[in-house]
Amino acid sequence: MSLIGRGSSRAEDRFEAWLKRMHRERVLSGESEPVGACPNEAFLRGLARRSKSISLNDPRIDHAANCQNCMNRILAMRQSVRSERKRLALGLSAACLVAIIGAIAWLQYENHHRQAVATAAPISKTVDLWNTGTYRGERPGQLQSVVLPAAQVRLTIVLPQFSSPGQYLVAVTRDQSGNGVIAEGLTTADDIKGQEKVSVAIDLRSAKAGAYFLSTTHEQDQAAYYYPLQIE
Ligand SMILES: [Zn+2]
Repeated sequence: MSLIGRGSSRAEDRFEAWLKRMHRERVLSGESEPVGACPNEAFLRGLARRSKSISLNDPRIDHAANCQNCMNRILAMRQSVRSERKRLALGLSAACLVAIIGAIAWLQYENHHRQAVATAAPISKTVDLWNTGTYRGERPGQLQSVVLPAAQVRLTIVLPQFSSPGQYLVAVTRDQSGNGVIAEGLTTADDIKGQEKVSVAIDLRSAKAGAYFLSTTHEQDQAAYYYPLQIE
């Protein structure tokens, strides 16, 4: 005539249900003397942990419910199980907190790093073409290769001898026909100590490492001069 449903499978309720049942039965029967010997430590620990492997019909439960020694030990064990669970939960919370703080710190570092890269001063590069042969279109020539980093570059070009003053379009292109423009800038040549120099800011951050061409086009000439360029 148990009032507790046998189907109740929630482990959390089992111990409370068991206590109520034992208490009720003891009161009804007027019996308070424990029957049989005290069960071993493992069994008591199972009770304290509300082990599902212990049947509520186990006669040792009846003993434990009526034995002051067993009851005291079970209560002490339950207390330690509770604080153990609390410590575990606190430990997990602390681990989560550390992980969250770590993630935030990493994101801040990433953001800071990205901003630092974005606001980084352009890299100054000078390309001296003074003694370099030039060629128009696809006519090959004896050319030195120019190397530039995949970055924001402040490019100063010493134009080849006999270059005209005036405005130049400087471009980095995929091929020597002017196709696939990676970056370009308009600039005016300055005559410095007899050499025509142009200075232009070009953004090569999106360029993949490889072979390109650097071209200069004079405003009135319109024909571009191409120089092999290596982006690293
Ligand atoms: Zn006992």
